[in-house]
Amino acid sequence: MSSKLNPFPQVGRSVLGYPSRLLSRTKVAEKTVAFQFQRPRNFLFRPGQFIDLGLPGLPRNGSHGLTHTFSIASSCFASDILLATRMRDSCFKRALSVLPLGNEVSIRGPMGSFVLHSDVSRPAVFLAGGIGITPFLSMLSSVTIEKHRLPVFLFYANRYLEDAAFMDTLCNREKVTGNFHFVPTFTRIAPGQGGWKGTTGPINAQMLSNYISNLQDPIYYVAGPPGMVAGTQQTLVELDVREEDIRTENFAGY
Ligand SMILES: Cc1cc2nc3c(=O)[nH]c(=O)nc-3n(C[C@H](O)[C@H](O)[C@H](O)COP(=O)(O)OP(=O)(O)OC[C@H]3O[C@@H](n4cnc5c(N)ncnc54)[C@H](O)[C@@H]3O)c2cc1C
Repeated sequence: MSSKLNPFPQVGRSVLGYPSRLLSRTKVAEKTVAFQFQRPRNFLFRPGQFIDLGLPGLPRNGSHGLTHTFSIASSCFASDILLATRMRDSCFKRALSVLPLGNEVSIRGPMGSFVLHSDVSRPAVFLAGGIGITPFLSMLSSVTIEKHRLPVFLFYANRYLEDAAFMDTLCNREKVTGNFHFVPTFTRIAPGQGGWKGTTGPINAQMLSNYISNLQDPIYYVAGPPGMVAGTQQTLVELDVREEDIRTENFAGY
């Protein structure tokens, strides 16, 4: 008689979807909201992975209305699942913005291979465009909690200061994590404008070489809207970074 215990409970659920509930929503930047969901029992994921979030009662027609894909922003040790998104006037986001707290949603996954390498002799360089910051928040939590020794650089590009989500979290993380260097940059403000004394302009070859001594040494991770991902990938190729050392997560839909 075989055991009734399923040794891989997450496999079936990753296809069918785990039930979960909306716990809170918090504005984290201009038109940008973080949504906290209950973490389903047995839901395991690796930092950097993504899920499909399904909302109840949405029509299946329209722009892939029933579900949307989101990278998980929370730590893999946390008891909740945190997602963050730019709020736009789409069918899905209208429904998400008025979903009552406590209401059920479905979480399908985890999916994706945008996860940290294990060779600590090679630095990790994270290149985030706007809301592309989400997978890196989860990865950085594990770097801090698990006391990873690998050096991590995060270049985080936004148009304006008010567009940059989780700035306080990231600045604080830099203070407590010795091997983490944080470089926020703003593409639509002039140097010194609005009291900003840091880096401005898009992520480019000069900016990277200001911080990284050997540009062929790290593994690069790029996440954000398709245009940003393609442009940054091109910059890295022009810097003679090998294709296998560039990993990308394209936030299709932006
Ligand atoms: C791996 C992955 C991770 C992502 N993580 C995040 C995240 O953490 N935060 C976040 O805000 N967004 C994330 N996205 C993007 C997200 O799934 C939505 O596409 C995006 O938020 C736009 O949704 P919308 O409702 O504003 O626009 P919509 O009205 O849904 O779409 C706008 C346009 O883009 C097209 N489109 C939308 N989604 C896709 C798609 N997946 N593939 C191809 N075409 C598409 C639509 O057909 C339409 O033309 C991720 C996408 C992927 C693939």
